[in-house]
Amino acid sequence: MKTYYQLCILIGLVFRVHSGPTPLPNEKHDEEFAKNYLKKLYNLKEENKPSFGRKVSEMSLKLGEMQQFFGLKVTGTLDAETLEIMKMPRCGVSDVAAYTKQPLPFTWDKTKLTYRIENYTPDMSVAEVDDSIERALQVWAHVTSLRFTRINSGVADIMISFVGGDHGDGSPFDGPNGILAHAFSPSPGIGGDAHFDDDETFTFKSSRGYNLFLVAAHEFGHSLGLEHSTVVGALMYPTYSYTNPDTFVLPRDDVNRIQALYGSNPEKPVDPDKPGPTPPVTPDACDPNLVLDAVTTLRGEKLFFKKRFFWRSHPQFTTIDQYLIKVFWPELPDDIDAAFEDPSADLMYIFKGKT
Ligand SMILES: [Zn+2]
Ligand SMILES: [Zn+2]
Repeated sequence: MKTYYQLCILIGLVFRVHSGPTPLPNEKHDEEFAKNYLKKLYNLKEENKPSFGRKVSEMSLKLGEMQQFFGLKVTGTLDAETLEIMKMPRCGVSDVAAYTKQPLPFTWDKTKLTYRIENYTPDMSVAEVDDSIERALQVWAHVTSLRFTRINSGVADIMISFVGGDHGDGSPFDGPNGILAHAFSPSPGIGGDAHFDDDETFTFKSSRGYNLFLVAAHEFGHSLGLEHSTVVGALMYPTYSYTNPDTFVLPRDDVNRIQALYGSNPEKPVDPDKPGPTPPVTPDACDPNLVLDAVTTLRGEKLFFKKRFFWRSHPQFTTIDQYLIKVFWPELPDDIDAAFEDPSADLMYIFKGKT
């Protein structure tokens, strides 16, 4: 049966930004929002001195770093597309270490780690939280020699808690949306611990709210020593996007990075008859063998679809931005078959499945 999706385009801000390179009027709250984002996530220092005489302000430099990290056009100015990315829900761990590619990651010097769930979110049952946390840790255990044991008292390597606002570690949460959680890289004390913003609505098997398994699996990557990845679609990409937790397979980029720290799983030798699910790879627009799923125009841009990704190309820009389909249209399936635009109705039609 052919499935048919008619999309009213309600994401005008995102798409209108490509109608011209002019930055948005710098509304004060957007500037302030961007400054706080860059302070927290890109190590922007407060500019006490006036910037007269400086060729490029610290704010502009940090905006450029952030734009480069996310594969945006590097302008150093707060344009609409940059602001849109800044407003996406994400992890509270800084992108700076990933951006500067620090050569020495922190890692555990043991493979048997303990974890403890200190308290629970009221959004889910205790069993659902326990199951989500356990499966999130197994994402990493599955591909490495790391093993996790739960303890119910005392201090574990990975202490897990749901906390809100200022919770005493110098990195206050920000209420609903925005920052969802953060975790600390391996070390004694707070190292390895994962904090989840209790002002979020966490869910078990739903695409509504924020899926705790997906958020936790990302945070535990930090607990084990990983920084953020610039690869769109990687679990360690900083922004949140929903994918079905029942069919989740750790992407190739994350597998490679965690195995570089801890090696592969010695208990799972590759069986050619039962290779298991293949870690998904983010498609490369420059791959000469790439076969696209669908191509369409949309408001003067070209959209190219492949698996759970699409690229946007605007005739005025040389950069081609890659995104996850679900970040823009959460209801759309992956692996679509066809797409076209009806400009007169301002609609895009997406097709999937056979008649
Ligand atoms: Zn993170
Ligand atoms: Zn915290």
